[in-house]
Amino acid sequence: LANRKFHPEDTVVDCGHGVLVGGGNFQVIAGPCSVEGDNLIEIARAVKAAGATMLRGGAFKPRTSPYTSQGMGARGLDLLMEAGAELDMPVVSEVMDPRDVQLFLDKGVDVLQIGARNAQNFTLLREVGKTNVPVLLKRGMSETIDELLMGAEYVMSEGNANVMLCERGIRTFETRTRNTFDVNAIPVLHHLTHLPVVGDPSHATGYTRYVRPGAYAAVAAGADALEIEVHDCPSRAWSDGSQALTPAQFADAMRRIALIREAV
Ligand code: PEP
Ligand code: MN
Repeated sequence: LANRKFHPEDTVVDCGHGVLVGGGNFQVIAGPCSVEGDNLIEIARAVKAAGATMLRGGAFKPRTSPYTSQGMGARGLDLLMEAGAELDMPVVSEVMDPRDVQLFLDKGVDVLQIGARNAQNFTLLREVGKTNVPVLLKRGMSETIDELLMGAEYVMSEGNANVMLCERGIRTFETRTRNTFDVNAIPVLHHLTHLPVVGDPSHATGYTRYVRPGAYAAVAAGADALEIEVHDCPSRAWSDGSQALTPAQFADAMRRIALIREAV
């Protein structure tokens, strides 16, 4: 179902609030790694002012250690939905558990993110496949491109065709960055599938100083959207502060992204 051979035209995913991804429609998803409280609306206003068109935030967090913050949960979704309504932006948030899918639907989350750690959680993929809500499927950290495409098939075979694929870096022998941004995956996916392709330079690099170069590479390589983590005070972030852009850094990135978009 995801194969371009049987569906040559680009799929355009309608994320709500008039925001389309794919087929020449380019969007930037921005926001904090974790929803933390009152700073969400400030971050959301700042990224919107800089040109972001979709708001992200994690309410249920897949943390490596069970002893670190696991996110605000349902209350975090409420804060996201309030911010999305105020700013007229679709909201993207990660669902980790098939039992939570209905909660996300009830809250009205516009895009269900499947995180790298759940990229092959086939029960979860099937569950979001039974909805008609757009799915942002992130590549597993050790997943091949073909395995990622099979993850999309799990969602689509249940009836949900609104799938976006996200390259977020893969594990390699390199240790100077959190992950290795497989920029190749962007044109390869465009060749193999009609689904929109999103680049996430935040998780792909893991360090604030490398996020902007990664974003520019993804745009130049043809990404249909970017997902970028932004925090008003990265040193105090509940998660992924080391890779967060400040609102000022994000605004700077957006100016250059616009120039690269014009050039490609
Ligand atoms: C995230 O988007 O905050 C996240 C946990 O991403 P990934 O699943 O790619 O690690
Ligand atoms: Mn994160």
